[in-house]
Amino acid sequence: MGCSQVAGWMPWLRGRLALLPLACLCAGLLGRGLGHPEVATWAWTIATLTVIGVLLAQVGTSLKKGDVGLDLVALLSMGGALVLSQPLAGAVIALMYAGGQSLEAYASGRAGRAMTALIARQPRTALREDEGALKEAPIAVLVPGDRILVRVGDVLPVDGRVAAGRAVLDRSSLTGEALPFTALANEPVLSGTVNVGTPFTLITERPAAESTYAGIVRLVEAARSQKAPMARLADRYGLAFLVLTLLLAGSAWLATDDPLRALAVLVVATPCPLILAVPVALVSGLSRAAGIGVLIKGGGALETLAKVRVLVVDKTGTLTHGAARLTSARILGILDEGEVLGLAASLEQASGHPLGRALIEEAARRGLTLSQPEDVEEMPGEGVTGLVDGRPVVVGGPNIMRMHGIRFPPPAMAGTGAAVASTVLVAVDGATAAALEFADPLRVDGGNALLELRACGIERVVLATGDRRAVADALVAGLPIDAVAADLDPAAKTDAVVAERRNGPVMMVGDGVNDAPALAAADLGVALGARGAAAAAEAADVVLLVDSLAPLPRAIRIARRARAIALQSVWVGLGLSLAGMVAAALGYLSPLQGALLQEAIDVAVILNAMRVLGGPEGGREPEARGVPRRA
Ligand code: ADP
Ligand code: MG
Repeated sequence: MGCSQVAGWMPWLRGRLALLPLACLCAGLLGRGLGHPEVATWAWTIATLTVIGVLLAQVGTSLKKGDVGLDLVALLSMGGALVLSQPLAGAVIALMYAGGQSLEAYASGRAGRAMTALIARQPRTALREDEGALKEAPIAVLVPGDRILVRVGDVLPVDGRVAAGRAVLDRSSLTGEALPFTALANEPVLSGTVNVGTPFTLITERPAAESTYAGIVRLVEAARSQKAPMARLADRYGLAFLVLTLLLAGSAWLATDDPLRALAVLVVATPCPLILAVPVALVSGLSRAAGIGVLIKGGGALETLAKVRVLVVDKTGTLTHGAARLTSARILGILDEGEVLGLAASLEQASGHPLGRALIEEAARRGLTLSQPEDVEEMPGEGVTGLVDGRPVVVGGPNIMRMHGIRFPPPAMAGTGAAVASTVLVAVDGATAAALEFADPLRVDGGNALLELRACGIERVVLATGDRRAVADALVAGLPIDAVAADLDPAAKTDAVVAERRNGPVMMVGDGVNDAPALAAADLGVALGARGAAAAAEAADVVLLVDSLAPLPRAIRIARRARAIALQSVWVGLGLSLAGMVAAALGYLSPLQGALLQEAIDVAVILNAMRVLGGPEGGREPEARGVPRRA
């Protein structure tokens, strides 16, 4: 759209563009008051010409991009004002146009600040223990196992574990969660959080480039570089509006033989700031959602989020919290429990699956030493295979066992039936070695989140899981879920999402690599970004930076509000403009009165759009929290 397409040096200018016409307007009024009308004419003409110059530069760009900018109307009305000796009307339009640009620059600057702060706070160096001394090292050279000192107020540069004692951390920049949380010795902590307790030593677990924070910053940058597509609404109607305006102005001129009539129509039609209202509302919505830990990748995603009716939700890691625990190990072969667990956990080091992590944690608890797995292949939603200490190992569900020709007694998969438990088989050297059972309970807030999602307009909820039906059915008992699809491989999950689209716009929420195709196929993909797979976050349109479903209902409310306000601004603004244009064509408004009227409409409409930044979102919190501006 012409109004918001600007060259590199333009943003700076846009923020200040209104100052010159404002000064000229005042100088002219003063001159006229003091009895020097020629001074007034000069001042107003200079104001108009300057803004016409800036506008010409922009119309050039917008024409090159192929959209006939609404800027053209502004250009015609200012040019017309000069030609028809209406310098005051010209100066008022110039001020209105420039003022709209400044307002938009202010609003999007304010909205972008939350996201920029997140990027700006990224640490560059860390204090690493090096032969008994602390040395400053660039974070890029940190490797797993390094011990680094985190001072109070420091942002954690890499994912790792607390070496000893405890750490008190503020996660608000990642999650919007205000309460600090405490991590004890050996507990995992995420990069991007801020140390608000005492200095502590962090043992690096992942290089900086693979850590949570780097991933989130990458996502934020990708989101920022996208243009808000709902702004296209303006482009779509821009041409029609231009034609209508010219027709009305032309007929008024023909009918009355008075070019001032045509000018008055053009002046009232100059809707540039009005069209800016849409991006202002949308960007404000994105910023507000970012404040509660929900990263929405652009205006199009925000719009879809406002419209979703059906929710397809993944089970493991999404509805359950993905912090599964090994509850029983039934030995089915000749190897003993420690040996089987060691081999399986070694293999799972290469997988990011929640059940794999549970195995590794159990092995650590038992003090088992793990080996480096080789030739690892993961089949998303099925399991992993590879060599450990030269022995072939397979860990996963019944399908992957069948694929490798490994026979297992059917009761092995039955589970103990006591609680909701996922069963995973382990095969070593081509024979089943054990059936492992995991308790993977529902997220604490999972049920509540589903109820709240229902309350904000989700009409149908479907659980889609790669796990067995019995496990899925047991988990959803008592939850507001309409249908359960189980035993799905990634392709079947995608089909399930596509099939649901006949019931309305579908939102798919998932965490794993096996969810990525389904996330991409949904009208709106939502990934759990804090712990989930990077592939899922990349395929998704919305990323939850928290390890929780709780912010999702609030994000929907924010999106609905932003969309409603954007549409309201456009239709009310256009309606008022049209009424004004008709009045001008009939001779009820002079060009100057028209310019003043349109200025009032535009300012009101933009201020209305900025309401998205404040006010209620329908959630519990009275105010959205931005990213704290701590160093
Ligand atoms: P969901 O679709 O509910 O998130 P997944 O598709 O992630 O579930 O997992 C489904 C099943 O696939 C698990 O219950 C397990 O049997 C098996 N599985 C997948 N990946 C792994 C793995 N890395 N290790 C062990 N089992 C796995
Ligand atoms: Mg999952």
